[in-house]
Amino acid sequence: MVVSREKNVIRDRLYNHKNREKVNKRKRERYQRDKEEISRQHKIYKDKNRHKVKAQNYAMRYGFKKDKCEECSSKDKLNFHHIDYENYKNPKCGMTLCIDCHKKDHRTVIVSNES
Ligand SMILES: [Zn+2]
Ligand SMILES: [Zn+2]
Repeated sequence: MVVSREKNVIRDRLYNHKNREKVNKRKRERYQRDKEEISRQHKIYKDKNRHKVKAQNYAMRYGFKKDKCEECSSKDKLNFHHIDYENYKNPKCGMTLCIDCHKKDHRTVIVSNES
């Protein structure tokens, strides 16, 4: 039992050693595929949410984002939350929220939409 298991380990090791090129190539290919999949997903998100990306970039560029959360005054991980994407060029189209208040805000939006 033990001997055969050891044999297997040795055989695997030998295989890996002999086929190092092949194994590495397979690893590289998998990595490459994952990378492509991630960037594909990212592109889909950007295409779907083009208006959001544009609005977020605009808010950043023109300094709509304040230096603290407008709900709790936290200065951690601030986002610009858009209330009105149509009027994204207006500084009043949204507010600065920390990541926690931002999540809460979106939850209430979802809940109120459902009811
Ligand atoms: Zn907050
Ligand atoms: Zn938001």
